[in-house]
Amino acid sequence: MIISMQYPPKLVDAPVIYQLSRQFNVKFSILRAVVEAEFAQLTLEITGKPEDLQQGLEYLRGQGITVSLNSNILIDMDTCVSCGACTGVCPSRALKINGDAHLAFEEARCINCQLCISACPLRAITPSVIPPAGGIQASP
Ligand code: SF4
Ligand code: SF4
Repeated sequence: MIISMQYPPKLVDAPVIYQLSRQFNVKFSILRAVVEAEFAQLTLEITGKPEDLQQGLEYLRGQGITVSLNSNILIDMDTCVSCGACTGVCPSRALKINGDAHLAFEEARCINCQLCISACPLRAITPSVIPPAGGIQASP
């Protein structure tokens, strides 16, 4: 998973990446770093168990870091019948059945674990690297 992190000024020198690795067993490689006196933006590739990634992202956000990530899944909403099977396996609650009984995908919460792909009985969810014919990317 690739994430982009924007640090508030008070955290520019804080060892949050070290803590991410040490506390949550998340492996990382820095793809891009822009660090100035009162501003830092890092792009990382992180890997780990879904629950560790989720807890690590919550840790970063709890520190006041803005974390953005792009989902690697596509949901064919024409095929989806909002059965909810995928929501039960989603560790980050990115997938939910909303108030009008339809599947809602909050992309910003997705940690790209891809557990939902095999959970869907209709194969409505696919990795975005292999787009389904006529598939659309679900909006947050
Ligand atoms: S890949 Fe699927 S199961 Fe995993 S976090 Fe994203 S939406 Fe949830
Ligand atoms: S499991 Fe498949 S059909 Fe059911 S809500 Fe999720 S995407 Fe839709």
